[in-house]
Amino acid sequence: MATLDSSFSSLLEGYDLAQLDRHDGAIYALCRDWRLRYFNDGWRQFANDNGGEPVLSQAWPLGAAIFEAFSPLPLREFFEFHYRECLREARVWSHDYECSSASSFRRFRQFVYPVYGNGVLVVNSKLVEREHDAPPVRSAMSVDYRDRAGLIHQCAHCRRIRSAHNHDSWDWVPAWVTHMPARCSHGLCPTCLVFYYLKPGAAST
Ligand SMILES: [Zn+2]
Repeated sequence: MATLDSSFSSLLEGYDLAQLDRHDGAIYALCRDWRLRYFNDGWRQFANDNGGEPVLSQAWPLGAAIFEAFSPLPLREFFEFHYRECLREARVWSHDYECSSASSFRRFRQFVYPVYGNGVLVVNSKLVEREHDAPPVRSAMSVDYRDRAGLIHQCAHCRRIRSAHNHDSWDWVPAWVTHMPARCSHGLCPTCLVFYYLKPGAAST
């Protein structure tokens, strides 16, 4: 069942909440203060499928400041800029992103709709789900991936792990997609940073 902040029910006036709830992807709505005012079952399901529940709904209840959910900083700045532009320009914005599981490559498209100048509605839909194409699978050997401070660095976007010996090498380690290792720091690998977040217009419409 959808979860809506009743003091902001006018935000989605005219929208069929039952229909939004039937969408099998995550949908959420933000007010002008960029706080979470609505989410559908798909949001909960997505969190559950990715090992995020119950932590996610505890960490990001209604009223939570959404931009704090985006990490690291370039990712946060990217989404904050485009969400604000969407509202300011009253124009729909979309962005493709990866969120693979240990067993499947998955690609999603996010549409952000301005809502009566009062906020935005964010709709996530799965575009592709298939088995990984013979990825360079590695076993989770900490010695290969922990830096001198003992941290493991995972790309927040494609979820690959940075090699401790060669920082240009990011490996697919399925075990650490299923269960995040202890002392894991999130960053962006060079490919994701450039393709998704720096190249003008890349992966966006
Ligand atoms: Zn990446």
